[in-house]
Amino acid sequence: MAAKDFPALSPENEKELVERLSQWALANGLVMYPPNWQLHSANNAPITMFPTPFPKDLFEDAMKVQTTFNKLYANVVSKEKVWLVDLIKSLADFDKDFTGKLYETYVKAVESSNGTLPQPLSLGVFRSDYMYNQTDHTIKQIEFNTVSISFGGLSTKVGAAQNYLNKSGVYDNDYSLKYYQPDEVPVSESIDKIASGLAQGNYFYNDEVDNQKTVVLFVVQPGERNCFDQRLIEYALLENHGIKSYRLTLEEIKEKTTINSGKLYIKATMDEVSVVYYRSGYAPSDYSVNPEKTWDARLHLEVSKAIKCPSLLTQLSGSKKVQQVLTDASRVKEVLGDVSQEELDLLLSTFVKIHPLDDTAAGKEAKRLALEEPENYVLKPQREGGGNNVYKGDIPGHLKALDESEWGAYILMELIHPPTHKNKIIKDGQVYNEDILSELGIFGTLVFNEETGEIKSNENAGFLLRSKFSSSDEGGVAAGFGCVDTVYLY
Ligand code: ADP
Ligand code: MG
Repeated sequence: MAAKDFPALSPENEKELVERLSQWALANGLVMYPPNWQLHSANNAPITMFPTPFPKDLFEDAMKVQTTFNKLYANVVSKEKVWLVDLIKSLADFDKDFTGKLYETYVKAVESSNGTLPQPLSLGVFRSDYMYNQTDHTIKQIEFNTVSISFGGLSTKVGAAQNYLNKSGVYDNDYSLKYYQPDEVPVSESIDKIASGLAQGNYFYNDEVDNQKTVVLFVVQPGERNCFDQRLIEYALLENHGIKSYRLTLEEIKEKTTINSGKLYIKATMDEVSVVYYRSGYAPSDYSVNPEKTWDARLHLEVSKAIKCPSLLTQLSGSKKVQQVLTDASRVKEVLGDVSQEELDLLLSTFVKIHPLDDTAAGKEAKRLALEEPENYVLKPQREGGGNNVYKGDIPGHLKALDESEWGAYILMELIHPPTHKNKIIKDGQVYNEDILSELGIFGTLVFNEETGEIKSNENAGFLLRSKFSSSDEGGVAAGFGCVDTVYLY
């Protein structure tokens, strides 16, 4: 089915829409702190003026395949642990300061626990990101995120904001018509679903009892501008499940928590922590100010009995290199084990080609592609959080500036070709009218046993659409390149 155009509004009505949207956002927590913020100074999060068209069948595919992806990565961590640890060890040589430190901290944690970490259960709050590849009408995966995934909070809010506008008739110049049918603009359930993922962690920590005495510890960045996105999940956790939480930075962990008989407690109250939820710790900058203290904090948490979301190994399973190896169909089948052909086919249909840049035959061919035909590729290092990739014509120069022995730390990925749309972006009160590209993220939560491979719960947890100007290659909202959007399904 063809998509309806975006609503066409008179300048006056557009002005009214911007006012309504901005005030709805402030009234309902669709906000972020500006740079150099003060406690009272929240700002509208950058958002689109209208929902952006996304094919309904592909949206449903992405929602459906999430639990299979959750299982794939859980199995990598549990059933393929030896392989994963070996792979990470080889990556650690290329990237000593970050992958190397995560790996070293994992090894130290295992050693200081006499070979077996005290908490076999692991909580994943994951997000699989896709773009719509228009040429063959498929969704293609950009990456699978296993640590500190964001925008589950703001996504629900932006959907609710667009529903408010639609119901108010503001998308129609006469204020009389609902421009979209209600089921065309679904609201992501990510706030409630991510909160229930955390609650499930708490439940399994307490031997399958809904214990409201144990708490969740959010490990956050100092001065976090996106804290409202996190607070929304905290409020749902308290409201829906009666579970309290605390927020501490990595720097504060050793001073403000203590371990007693393996259990982690908040010192001030002696509340026992069931789940450590990382919204920090995924990038080198999270450790750079005080490396000794912050890496030590990570080790301290890892050796406690609290369930980590994610554990060091689960975080490491989200490495770009793991994603590259898993584009091999027979390997995927092996790792997934018991899975229907339909589930497997759907999962495999989301992959584009990703090449290693190592000394294997495939690696050598990829090196040739990178140097001679870079226009269809993006080069990615082992990093998270935006701003690290090298695109197209910049690839040969980037590689040539490195010693060839370092190329193995990168993967070479085929570019996905999403359509552009003429939506408008509202940022800091300004309306930007440029072509945008969108990236669909699907959230998933699961609790699994890293030792036995048993999966205790596995759920879809809502969705996110992020959009950016098509002129920019990167799409990080918090990094300032993009905005939070929502889908209009057609
Ligand atoms: P990060 O871990 O930094 O988020 P990503 O792999 O998500 O890295 O890449 C960052 C951004 O680069 C994505 O949000 C997307 O906009 C763009 N990008 C990444 N891979 C591709 C690709 N294969 N095709 C097109 N754009 C891509
Ligand atoms: Mg990304």
